[in-house]
Amino acid sequence: MRYSQTFVPTLKETPAEAEVVSHRLMLRAGYIRKLSAGVYTYLPFGLAAIRRVEKIVREEMNRAGAQELLMPMVQPADLWRETGRYEKYGPELLRFKDRHDRESCLGPTHEEVITDLVRGEVRSYRQLPLNLYQIQSKFRDEIRPRFGLMRGREFIMKDAYSFDVDDEQAGIAYQKMYDAYQRIFTRCGLQFRAVEADSGTIGGSFSHEFMVLAKTGEDTLVVCRNCDYAANVEKAAIKARPVESTEPLLEPEKIETPGKRKVAAVCDFLGIGPELLVKTMIYKVTGGDAQQVYPVAVLVRGDREVQEVKLKNLLQAVDVELAEDKEVFEITGVPTGYLGPIGLNGQKVKVVADLEVAAMRNFVVGAGEKNYHLKNVNMGRDFEVTLVADLRQIAGDDPCPLCGGELAQIEGIEVGHIFKLGTVYSESMRALFQDHEGQEKPLIMGCYGIGISRIVAAAIEQNHDENGIILPVALAPAQVIILNLGLKDAVITAAAELLYTQLQAQGVEVLLDDRDERPGSKFKDADLLGIPFRVTVGTRLIKDDVVEIRHRRNGLTVDLSPAQVVEYVLKQITAADSTGQE
Ligand code: ATP
Ligand code: MG
Repeated sequence: MRYSQTFVPTLKETPAEAEVVSHRLMLRAGYIRKLSAGVYTYLPFGLAAIRRVEKIVREEMNRAGAQELLMPMVQPADLWRETGRYEKYGPELLRFKDRHDRESCLGPTHEEVITDLVRGEVRSYRQLPLNLYQIQSKFRDEIRPRFGLMRGREFIMKDAYSFDVDDEQAGIAYQKMYDAYQRIFTRCGLQFRAVEADSGTIGGSFSHEFMVLAKTGEDTLVVCRNCDYAANVEKAAIKARPVESTEPLLEPEKIETPGKRKVAAVCDFLGIGPELLVKTMIYKVTGGDAQQVYPVAVLVRGDREVQEVKLKNLLQAVDVELAEDKEVFEITGVPTGYLGPIGLNGQKVKVVADLEVAAMRNFVVGAGEKNYHLKNVNMGRDFEVTLVADLRQIAGDDPCPLCGGELAQIEGIEVGHIFKLGTVYSESMRALFQDHEGQEKPLIMGCYGIGISRIVAAAIEQNHDENGIILPVALAPAQVIILNLGLKDAVITAAAELLYTQLQAQGVEVLLDDRDERPGSKFKDADLLGIPFRVTVGTRLIKDDVVEIRHRRNGLTVDLSPAQVVEYVLKQITAADSTGQE
């Protein structure tokens, strides 16, 4: 590539709308441009980085025995109705009608389409196992598209689906994908971690997410400082059961707490710690059939947070959302801050309590009346609940569920998710096969996603400095940029051109900066673009027969004679092959 003929529209100014560094740098380095909310054009350099990720993904998927196909993006609603997901999927599914009034949707994922395909073709155990994948644009009408390619509405995903005869074989298929994912993210040069993930209402523990470790990640991971335990905070179960208090039950007491609505304010006023108070929070729950929205009150200790994914799974809900103050008043007739569980259950709303609350004695709750709280309240004696379950988010003082060790919380970006599906789709869609005894059985399925476009953003979150992008060698749109600093000098230009052809002949992607620009702006752009190795050909060539090679990552510079450059660069690139990084 010659820079003078390449479409890399870099920006000097930092775009105001970009909140995270990968988004800012991808705009500034001319990798992407926004078309509309969450919808981007991948410019040549952005696309080249994406293609490099795709290549690694393809190689490893093929190596693991998966086969590539490509499914349609436009999908008929009737297929989605077979699994009930046309109704359940929620507003992320973009639904529309064609000219014949046929309802359709844009594929956010492809379980229905692949299951439809396979049920039509696979009849016998002899055709199994099968693992099919594609790399394709998905559309999800995300409520808050943001951070550029990190959370787009249209984005590129690799999705694979496995079909097996029994649980054991499905377990093997899952493990193969787990191993392939480890290799993929390693080869991409990413620092990542596989964590146990929430497997939704489907149940089972067979779900892992692959998280790129970065402060801007939207996910929180819980990792043990002592053992291998690592889980998404949504999933992290609280193992240690709270000890039942043996305190005698005291008589409830109504106390005036004027204007004290927040936990901290009530506790200060009463001179107690938040562990002696129980919060009553109203959630709006969208039921499993997506038709009905109903209120549920959740009780957790004053210093705890409700873990909404746990709540959603417990209620088998499509969605749960904290009610706003106005809605709380409409539902319960009580202003927020004074709501309590007494008289609530069954009357107006269902009440569910966290395990910890069930073990507490003589605690404080809202009195259900403005400016009042109740002391010495006890569950069972003073109020009933519909369900008691693990509903709170794991906290810093909770022990590791595996070894009891100390936990730490870190931020991550989910770049991959693998999932054992079992027979949910094959049963509802009747995807059956005959086993070797001639018996008809549903196929055992798994699904495996990778956010291809998100990986590029995640890699930049992990690899950048104040001057721009520092892409891992494995993902960089070009590995080498040659700066010709003597366009008008025949010797310098000839040397730059020779290196350009020599490196290309060895299969190296090279960008030759042949623009008529000041050296300063060439250096600036080279840094911004994130190309791992910069070769500067200037007047030192004439004086000392040297060109300078600079490593973008650590600023290391080496002076070499032009004849040594190709070998040096090839050595660096080969060394990066297994780890993706220099
Ligand atoms: P998230 O929790 O981030 O919304 P998800 O659980 O909905 O992700 P999956 O359905 O498992 O994601 O999709 C597979 C992969 O696709 C994810 O691991 C992620 O890397 C990527 N992905 C999902 N949604 C988006 C998006 N809006 N933009 C870019 N990549 C995405
Ligand atoms: Mg999502």
